[in-house]
Amino acid sequence: MNDDTRVVTAGRDPHGNLGVVNPPVYHASTVLFETLEALQQARGKNPREVVYGRNGTPTTHSLQDAYAALEGADMAVATGSGKAAIVTALLACLEAGDHLLVVDSAYLPTRSFACGILRSFGVETSFYDPAAGEDIAGLMRPNTRAVYTESPGSLTFEIQDLPAIARVAHDRGAVIINDNTWSGGYFLKPFELGVDIVVQAGTKYIVGHSDAMCGLVAARGAWCERVWNTFLALGNCIGPDDAYLAQRGIRTMAVRLQRHHETGLRLARWLSHHGDVIRVLHPGLESDPGHALWQRDFTGASGLFGVLIKPTSHDALAAMVNGLTLFGMGWSWGGYESLLVPVDPSASRTVVPWEEEGQLLRIHAGLEDVEDLIADLDAAFRRRSKAS
Ligand SMILES: *Cc1c(COP(=O)(O)O)cnc(C)c1O
Repeated sequence: MNDDTRVVTAGRDPHGNLGVVNPPVYHASTVLFETLEALQQARGKNPREVVYGRNGTPTTHSLQDAYAALEGADMAVATGSGKAAIVTALLACLEAGDHLLVVDSAYLPTRSFACGILRSFGVETSFYDPAAGEDIAGLMRPNTRAVYTESPGSLTFEIQDLPAIARVAHDRGAVIINDNTWSGGYFLKPFELGVDIVVQAGTKYIVGHSDAMCGLVAARGAWCERVWNTFLALGNCIGPDDAYLAQRGIRTMAVRLQRHHETGLRLARWLSHHGDVIRVLHPGLESDPGHALWQRDFTGASGLFGVLIKPTSHDALAAMVNGLTLFGMGWSWGGYESLLVPVDPSASRTVVPWEEEGQLLRIHAGLEDVEDLIADLDAAFRRRSKAS
C-alpha cells in the first residue's frame, strides 16, 4: 500500500460507528466496567485498551494507528505537544549515569530539556556536528545510551547521515532517536534507515491548520513497551479535540505536503537568484551541502527552509517584514499559511558556531499561489532597498 492510501485509510472504522466517516470525539476520564471480572482484567498494558481517559480512547487510537502506519512503526502514542513527545522518547531510553549525544542543530527546547532536567537527574549530554556521520564513533562513551538526531535542523537545515549514525549507535549498544517533524513522516522513513524511536510535532504538518497541539512517538519491537510505560508514567496525554483534529489532518497531508514541497522549492530557487541573498538553506537545491544525502534518503521537501540575506539594519528589516501581506510572522509552521520570521541560531549552537554575516530568515511556504507569494517577497526586498 502506498503512503497516500495509508494516511486516508489507517486508523479508520466507519462501520464501527454507524457509517460515519470520522471517529467520534470521545471526552472521557472514567470508563465504566460492567462486571467485577472486566474491572479486574483491565490493566492498561497496551495502547489499545480503553480503561481510563488518560490512556487513550478510540479518538486517540485513530490518530495513533494512522501515524504508526505512516511511519511504518509497530505502535505510536499521542502526547499533548511535540515537546512532550520528545521528553517521552528521551525518558524511555535514559537513566541516571547515562550519556546522551544530541545534534547541535536540534530544536532549542530539546537542548534545554537535555541541559536542564536531564542534567539535574544525572544524565550527561554532549552535542555533535550535524555533518558528523560515522565519525560520531569518536564521541561515543562506554555509557552513551542514546543518540538524538533531527534532519534537517529546523533553523539551519543540515541533513544528517542517519544510516551511518544508526550503524555506529547500534555497534555500541545505543539507541537512535529521530525528530521527523520536518518531513511530516511523509518524505522520510527513519525506521528504514535504522532509527529505533521516531518523534514528531504533530502540531506542524499532521494537524496542518495551525490550531491544535499534538506530539507523536512511534516505536518498533522492544522499544514499544518502554515508550508505552513512559507515556503512562508521565501522564502527558493529548486532549480529545486536538486528537480529533490531528487524525483529521493526517487524511489530507499527502496532497498538502506535495504542494508545500513544490512551492517551497519554487520560492527557494527564486530567492537563490536574488541579488540581496547570500545563500538559501534548502536541501532540495543542488547547491546545498546536504543535497546528496537528501536525495538518497528523502522523497521530497516540506515547506520550511532558510534564506540568508545580506546584512540588514534593524530599520530595513522592519520595513521588509512589517509590510508583508501574505507571509505572517509567528512561531510554529506546517499550517496552510505562509510564514516568515527573522531568526538567529547563534545562541543555540555550541559545537559549530553560527558565524554567518547577514540576516537569516526562516520561511514556511504555505498553500497560497506561488506567484502571489513571490510578489509579496519581491515587494519586501524593494522596501529593504529603499530603507537601506
Ligand atoms: C515545533 C517543533 C517541536 C515541538 O512541537 P510542539 O508541538 O510545539 O511542542 C519539536 N521539534 C521540532 C523540529 C519542531 O519544529
